Amino acid sequence: MSLFRALRNYAYSRAGIYRRRLNAKPFPGVAVLAYHGVRDDDLPCDALRGGHMHVSASRLAEHCGVLKALCTPISGEQFLEAAVDGRPLPPRPVLVTFDDGYANCLSQALPVLERFEVPAVLFACPDPIARGVRFWFDAVAERHGDAAVAKAKSLPYDEWRMCVQRDEMSADSGDPHRPLTVPELLRVAASGLVEVGGHTLTHPILANATPADQQREIAGCAQALTAWLGKAPRLFAYPNGRPRVDYTEETVATARECYLDAFAMGDRFTDPSTLRGEQRRFLVLDSVSGAELTHRLAGAWSRAPLV
Ligand SMILES: [Zn+2]
Repeated sequence: MSLFRALRNYAYSRAGIYRRRLNAKPFPGVAVLAYHGVRDDDLPCDALRGGHMHVSASRLAEHCGVLKALCTPISGEQFLEAAVDGRPLPPRPVLVTFDDGYANCLSQALPVLERFEVPAVLFACPDPIARGVRFWFDAVAERHGDAAVAKAKSLPYDEWRMCVQRDEMSADSGDPHRPLTVPELLRVAASGLVEVGGHTLTHPILANATPADQQREIAGCAQALTAWLGKAPRLFAYPNGRPRVDYTEETVATARECYLDAFAMGDRFTDPSTLRGEQRRFLVLDSVSGAELTHRLAGAWSRAPLV
C-alpha cells in the first residue's frame, strides 16, 4: 500500500469520516471475510510460502477491533437465520470465515476471536486432518514452488490426485502451517464461537473433477465432519472459489444437497436471501491494515449488486 493511501486511511479514521460514511450508507447485504491461517506475530510474513494469505495474530486483532467498533460481527447461525428464515440482520453485518483448517486457527485465531467476541465459521478439509499430512498446496509449494501449485490446479482430477499423492508430506507438529488434528478441531467447535463447515475432503479444484468425484469430495466431507462433531455441517466453501472457474453449476447443485448454503469468492457483499449456494466473500490478506479494512468497508468495496 502506498504511503499516501496509508496516511489518508489514518486521517479519515481519526476524523470519523469512515464512521459517518458507514452510518449513512447501509451494506447491501453481509460482508463475508475470507481468511486462511493466522500466524504468530513472531513469524515474519515472508518466512512461509504464501505468507500473505495468513494474517498475523495482531493483524486479526486489529481487524476484529474495527468490526466491533464500526460493524456487527454475526455468526453462521445468524447468517443462516437470515438465509433460511428471512430473519432481519443487524446493521452492517460481517461474517468472519477461515478456510482449510490450519492448526493456528485454534492456537492463534481463537484467542483473538474470544477476546473480541467475534464469531466465525471455519471451513475444514477432513482428509489431511484425519491423516496428519500437510495441505497438498503447502507440500507442493514446499517441494517445487508456487508455480507448481498453479499447474497442479489446472490438471484433471485424477492427474492432480497422482501429483499430490507423490508429493505428500507428513505434518510436523512444529510446522506453523500444519492442519488441525481431530481433537484440535473438536476444541475449536467446542468453543461455541466457531461453527465448522465443509471445504471438500482433499481440496481439489472441483471444476476439474467428474460429477462422481465431486459428489465424493463434497458429501464425504460432510459425512466425516458429522462423524467427528456429532452433527451435520450446515455451510460449505468451494476450494479456490472463483465462480464458474473453480466450480460449476453441477457443483452448486451437489453442495446444496449436502449443506444449507455455500460460499464462493467474488469480492462482493452477499445477500443471504438470494444466490443460495453461491454466497460471495472478500478475500483478506495480511497486507490489509485495520485502516485499509475500514476504508474498504466504508465504500471502497463495491456496493453494486451482482448481475
Ligand atoms: Zn481452501
